[in-house]
Order: sequence, then C-alpha cells, then structure tokens
Amino acid sequence: MNEILDLEINEMAQTKFDCSCGRNHFFSIHDIAIGKGQLKALVPMAQPFIDGKVLMVCDNNTYEAAGKESLKLMEAAGFDVKRLVFDKGEDILIPDECVVGRVLEELDLDITLMVAVGSGTINDLVKFVSSRTKIPYIIVCTAPSMDGYVADGAPLICDGKKISYPACLAYGVVGDTDIMKQAPMRMIHAGFGDVVGKLTALADWDLAVQVVNEYRCDTCVTLVNRALEKCFSKTDALAKRDEEAVLYLIEALTLTGVAMGLVGVSRPASGSEHMLSHYWEMDFIAKGRYPELHGIKVGIATPIIAEVFEELSDCLPEETAKLSPSRLEVEDLLRRAGCPVSPKDIGIDRDLFYRSLMEGYDVRPRYSVLRYAKEKGRLKAIAEKITERIYGGQA
Ligand SMILES: [Zn+2]
Ligand SMILES: [Zn+2]
Repeated sequence: MNEILDLEINEMAQTKFDCSCGRNHFFSIHDIAIGKGQLKALVPMAQPFIDGKVLMVCDNNTYEAAGKESLKLMEAAGFDVKRLVFDKGEDILIPDECVVGRVLEELDLDITLMVAVGSGTINDLVKFVSSRTKIPYIIVCTAPSMDGYVADGAPLICDGKKISYPACLAYGVVGDTDIMKQAPMRMIHAGFGDVVGKLTALADWDLAVQVVNEYRCDTCVTLVNRALEKCFSKTDALAKRDEEAVLYLIEALTLTGVAMGLVGVSRPASGSEHMLSHYWEMDFIAKGRYPELHGIKVGIATPIIAEVFEELSDCLPEETAKLSPSRLEVEDLLRRAGCPVSPKDIGIDRDLFYRSLMEGYDVRPRYSVLRYAKEKGRLKAIAEKITERIYGGQA
C-alpha cells in the first residue's frame, strides 16, 4: 500500500498511491536522477523538449562547477541552448527584482525549457520564473546545501525584504555526487544543518498532532526518519567529502522534499528551528548584513529548540517527549560534521538571540514548541535561561 517506502529515490518521480493516512498522495516531479555520474541523465531528461530552445541559467561559479559540462552534453545531443551567466565576481548573487527581471528578459518566445545550474539562489530564481511562465525547468544541483530543490516555495528578495512566493516544483532534478562533493565545505555544512533541523521539525509536528490535532502522514515521517538515519550514519565522513556521505546528505535533503510534496505542507522539513533562522535572517537583511546560508542558521537553531523541548519535558505529551532530540545529541552531530554550533559563531548578538526566542513563534501562523511554551507561561523564563547559558552574565 505505502509502496513509496520500497522505492529508491530515483524511482519516486510521478508516484501516486493511497496512503494509510487516508489521503491519496501524488508526487508531481517527472524525473529524478541522483547519484554518481548522473549529470549525463540531463540529456534523456530534457529529450521531450528537444524541438524548442533551452535557456540555461547559472552564475560564474556554478557555470564552472557544472554549467559548462551540462552545456557541452546538451549541445552534443542537438539541443539549442541559450546561456545566462550571472557574474557577480566575488559577491554573492541576491535573488531580487533585478535578477528575476534579467531571467525574463532572456526568455525568448521559442524557449520551452529552462535548465537551472546551481543551488539555493539559482534554483529559487528559475523556479519562480518557471511557475509564473509555465515553462518547465530542470535543476542541476551543484551543492547539497538545502532542501529547496524539491520544494514548492521560492523565497526571493522584494523591496529589501525576503518573501516566500508560492511556486511549482521542478520538472526534473539532476544531482551528480561527483559535482556536489566538490561544493564549498560551508555549503555542505549548510545542507547538513538543514537535515539536522528535521529532528526538531518532526518533534514540532508531533506536538501539533497531540495538542491541536493537526494532520500527519506517518508514511512521510518514516520516509524522512529513514533518510535521517542514513545521513547521520555518515556524519564523520562528511568532512572528507566522502562519496557516500554526500550521497546520503543529498538523498535526505531530497526525500524531505518528496515528503513535503506528498503532504502538501512543509511540516516534514521545517519547525521552530526554521522560525528562529528566519527571524535572524530578517534582522540581518534589515541591517544590510550578509544573511549567512540557510542551513547554517537552521543547524545552529536546532540544539536551541531541542533545549526548549527539554525545558518543557515535565509538561510535554508523552509521545512528543520521546521524539524530541536532546540538545547535546544535536550539538554532537553538528560538531562531528564540522558545522558551527553557537549563534555567536555567526554574529548573532545577545539581544537578537533573546528576541528571536521570545518572538519567533510569531514568524509563521503555525503551532510550534515556542507557542506551546508561550501558552504554558514558560517562554520568558526559558528564553532567559538559554540566553544566559550561551551569552553568560546579566540580561
Ligand atoms: Zn530548510
Ligand atoms: Zn500519507
């Protein structure tokens, strides 16, 4: 019945099944090719679009990492490919109005497929344009840095603020571990941080099931849990860019995306740890500071949320208490992978940290352990305690 659990990741495209949760699930991505040497899968994946023109979008770094080779493969197979390479030199590409506009300007009338070569920014950008123009896109992933390759939101910057626009899933996903294991280590750490965040996301989801009777699909939870187990079994090898460690990391990131796609909500992927991360990011953007990679922030936020669960252990529903990870366990995972652990490591000051714990529950209208703490009248005391532990001294 829940046969998706028996499928390999590359077989999950277009799966449709009646689930034990009472719903009929459908995963709409047409094609997934993840693994060693999978870049060559781009050509057969794009084959249905060979009669039209292709727009390939990348930046100067991702062009070198995989764009050049993708272009070579497609042209050799007879595709007519137009290139758009954003060159920001040493600066990072910010997905704002201007950059979205550039993609639209390059979108000739006879283009029938877009190929995005990159990670977070390039993917979000092309995903947004794809969903507004209905021109499908294939993402060639260059770094295992976040779980947005298989997600239907496209966070962009508008008027200096980050807005998560609803968007459509990619037509296809290509993830070649030979390419992704060469990604900057900071991006690999970010991907790992985003995966670690699923530990508290799942605990938050359980809390919402127990306290406010929210819907949950156990098949999806199992899917994510299995992927986490595999990924964490290779934690120590990640720093060495071990092939299997990188594969399990990108699998975990993709499978949480699949789980989100199946249930149609981001519960399997994001909870309070993402709320803290978002709160910090808004503050960084407002102050014109580099907002740091998504998964780096999520990773740092996860042991803090684990601590919130621990502080509430005397009044949590039994199931949730069993599920929530311990702070030390989460910190240990991050440390072994080489990820930053403390909010101080990325320049979050005491005031911002304290405010994020006090106000973070309000980032999204969704039930979370932060809201639970607030309802129990415990939030302030917990926020003060954790702030003191990390920053020391008086408030
Ligand atoms: Zn995330
Ligand atoms: Zn289900």
